[in-house]
Amino acid sequence: MAKVVVVGVNHAGTSAIRTLLSQNKNHEVVAFDRNNNISFLGCGIALTVSGVVQNVNDLFYSNCNELETLGAEVHMSTDVTKIDTDKKEVTAKNLETGNEMTVGYDKLIYAAGSWPVDFNIPNSDLDNIYVCKLFQHAATLIDKANEPGIESVAIIGAGYIGIELAEAYHQKGKKVTLVDLQERVVPAYFDTEFTDRLQADIRRSGVNLVLGARVTGYIGGENGQVKQIETNHGNYDADLVIQCVGFKPNTDLLEDAEKLPNGALVVDSCMRTTVPDVYAIGDTAAIYHSAVGAHRHVALATNAVKGGVVAASQINELYTVQLPSIAGTNAICVFGNMLASTGLSEAAARAEGMNVLSSFYVDNDRPEFMNDVEEVGVKLVYDKESLRLVGAQIGSYGNTPHTECIFYLSLAIQKGLTLPELAMTDVYFLPHFNKPFNFVISAILQALGLTYMKG
Ligand SMILES: Cc1cc2nc3c(=O)[nH]c(=O)nc-3n(C[C@H](O)[C@H](O)[C@H](O)COP(=O)(O)OP(=O)(O)OC[C@H]3O[C@@H](n4cnc5c(N)ncnc54)[C@H](O)[C@@H]3O)c2cc1C
Repeated sequence: MAKVVVVGVNHAGTSAIRTLLSQNKNHEVVAFDRNNNISFLGCGIALTVSGVVQNVNDLFYSNCNELETLGAEVHMSTDVTKIDTDKKEVTAKNLETGNEMTVGYDKLIYAAGSWPVDFNIPNSDLDNIYVCKLFQHAATLIDKANEPGIESVAIIGAGYIGIELAEAYHQKGKKVTLVDLQERVVPAYFDTEFTDRLQADIRRSGVNLVLGARVTGYIGGENGQVKQIETNHGNYDADLVIQCVGFKPNTDLLEDAEKLPNGALVVDSCMRTTVPDVYAIGDTAAIYHSAVGAHRHVALATNAVKGGVVAASQINELYTVQLPSIAGTNAICVFGNMLASTGLSEAAARAEGMNVLSSFYVDNDRPEFMNDVEEVGVKLVYDKESLRLVGAQIGSYGNTPHTECIFYLSLAIQKGLTLPELAMTDVYFLPHFNKPFNFVISAILQALGLTYMKG
């Protein structure tokens, strides 16, 4: 039995506490979170803004009571202000009462997550400028979507969250401008074979997509509310602004641990930081990225919940439960584009200094003798010398998502497999679902010059 302190109780912290106490009820677990709610699924915010999800409260899957029933002592609205890793003590302040407390630990699970990057430009204090992360933000953003006075919306940052919100406000009948400093949307995950089409679909919908533009300030109107955003490409109307320009790990409290330049805590496959008895999970952690061959910060709920299971299992001496690597697997479903990627895009691989080649293959998903067929595209990125797979992207255009094929390609990346090893993977064929040489196998055979299946 150990005394375990958990700092931060959202996805990573909840997963760790559930695992810890389900495996061994005898631990003394003390948990702190500065927020007043836990387990809010931010991935559903855009869906509630558009109205696809009717009740924002459905985006919670746990609560304080559940964790207390398991045996944890949970302090909500309580900010951890100091961690002394020599004395093995955590100091926290209740944000409602002002009371402070200090508790010791045998093991510390650090799950303080991340916070939206604030890019501090002039007039950021005007009303109706928000970030998008918490339940509280979601509640406001949903209200704004239904406010008739909000006619134009500017979203800054054309990553996943920005594009999803652009689509959601567009569906609510708002005039939407989506701005990004980069020349392409989601450039970290997808190459032009997919982003060109997505950008065209965004523009065709009527959303004003402004790429390669730097936001330089906000312009206020009446009552201290934002009225326009100012960019180096001109000004755009905005009764509401949502800043979606990335997340920074909350790791200032752990000064002595090894970190990446962005502050993410370097962890091993057991989620241990370089400080004894301190585990870091979720958005605070930098995990070994198998495509890159080095630690990277990939802030996704998928990594958060797995990290919680691993850290807790390690504390419970279930040593085989580990997370040796990630591949950065992700997906997005917007403007009729169902996209998934894993590993590195070709652009990202080259930016990492890797010598890569790629194979892009577009086909119908099923044999043409079937009544309806849908287009699907795949791009594989691989090391020029070894033919090791380092990235894969799948675009599925129709009603049938084929994005889950990315799962086996992500495993291939995690296991360091090469294209020849993957070429003869034993996949099924059934006309209802795919072709004898399906699109993934075909992309591999194309890369290897084995294209004899094509007429
Ligand atoms: C809009 C949106 C959409 C997303 N969509 C997806 C998706 O589709 N798929 C996906 O995989 N991921 C998605 N993500 C990412 C995912 O939500 C994060 O990776 C995940 O929340 C990380 O969980 P976490 O518990 O590590 O960190 P967080 O969710 O950031 O939670 C950290 C917790 O720590 C608390 N805390 C921080 N500092 C302190 C302190 N000093 N004292 C006490 N408490 C503290 C915070 O209050 C918070 O509750 C999305 C994120 C957002 C914002």
